[in-house]
Amino acid sequence: MHTITLIKGDGIGPSIMDEAVKVINATGVKIEWEEAYAGLSAFEKFGTPLPDATMTSFDKTRIAFKGPLTTVVGTGFRSINVALRQQYDLYANVRPAKSWAGIKTRYDDVDIVIVRENTEGLYVGLEHYLSPKKDIAESLAVVTRSASERIVEYAFQYARDNNRQKVTVCHKANILKFSQGLFLDVAREVAARYPDINFDEKIIDAACMHMVMNPKQFDVVVTTNMFGDILSDLTAGLVGGLGLIPGANIGADAALFEAVHGSAPDIAGKNLANPTAVIMAGAMMLSHIGETEAAERVVKAVEKVVNEGIYVTPDLNPNTKAGTVEMGSAIAAAME
Ligand code: NAD
Repeated sequence: MHTITLIKGDGIGPSIMDEAVKVINATGVKIEWEEAYAGLSAFEKFGTPLPDATMTSFDKTRIAFKGPLTTVVGTGFRSINVALRQQYDLYANVRPAKSWAGIKTRYDDVDIVIVRENTEGLYVGLEHYLSPKKDIAESLAVVTRSASERIVEYAFQYARDNNRQKVTVCHKANILKFSQGLFLDVAREVAARYPDINFDEKIIDAACMHMVMNPKQFDVVVTTNMFGDILSDLTAGLVGGLGLIPGANIGADAALFEAVHGSAPDIAGKNLANPTAVIMAGAMMLSHIGETEAAERVVKAVEKVVNEGIYVTPDLNPNTKAGTVEMGSAIAAAME
């Protein structure tokens, strides 16, 4: 029996998470879901977007399955997602994007895993105005040798464990010679320890162009926090959109699984949200807790339903009659 903290989240969160739980439960893996709250729904219920009870649950389970959270503006909290990543030192954000046989996009052979540094860079929250008139602002990017080393190590080890051939580091060391320069130096040092994996380095702007023109040359990509955030939306666009991309936030002794997309308030409550990304995040979670066979069954069931294109949400097939619930049920039923 595994115990997992379940945060359904805001907007489309509860509806897609219900489908993900339905699919995961259909694998037969014994999971005790411990429901906790965060984001706007927690703020409305408990007056804080990150209640102590949620932290107590995550402290205990060390595994969380989370729906998207609406960032509550004006509460003193920047982002609960960033707070959770920093609090539990979930340093590796893994975001895989792979072409689907049934989804027509410009390319049919994209298979890129973005490994994003998740704890520092420009997202450390060190920002302020330099003048009372608020007409000069400053944001600090913090890059440390230790965090750079562990994320690049993670990327190479991930490549080795998953039979991947190449790691590309994306950086801007030509301009940001200190922060990005340090990241690049460390990446080169780590790469030398993995002679069995090819190593490539690309300046981030050129990387974007190459990724759009010839994505096949990318395999595992490792980069700093903000570049990883942006690049993973680019890879999402290459394979069919945000509704499809899962994300794992991995630390030394805790992990949190979620979709890359947000709470999509524009389609909340309409049975329109695509549950694929959170279901695929659920598969990553199953794999992480050692239930590899169940994870593979989930991925196969999702692929079957998505590639058939019938019981899918309108973002995948504008002529569909199915919605979130029908798609989740079809995936659960397709499980072998
Ligand atoms: P979003 O990802 O919620 O939505 C962007 C667009 O993609 C919208 O048109 C939406 O309808 C569509 N979309 C997203 N997920 C979809 C799905 N599963 N199926 C079909 N269409 C989908 O981004 P946003 O609108 O910029 O942000 C909304 C809120 O989510 C904000 O409060 C933001 O801070 C938050 N957010 C949270 C997370 C997270 O919890 N990890 C990530 C990103 C944004």
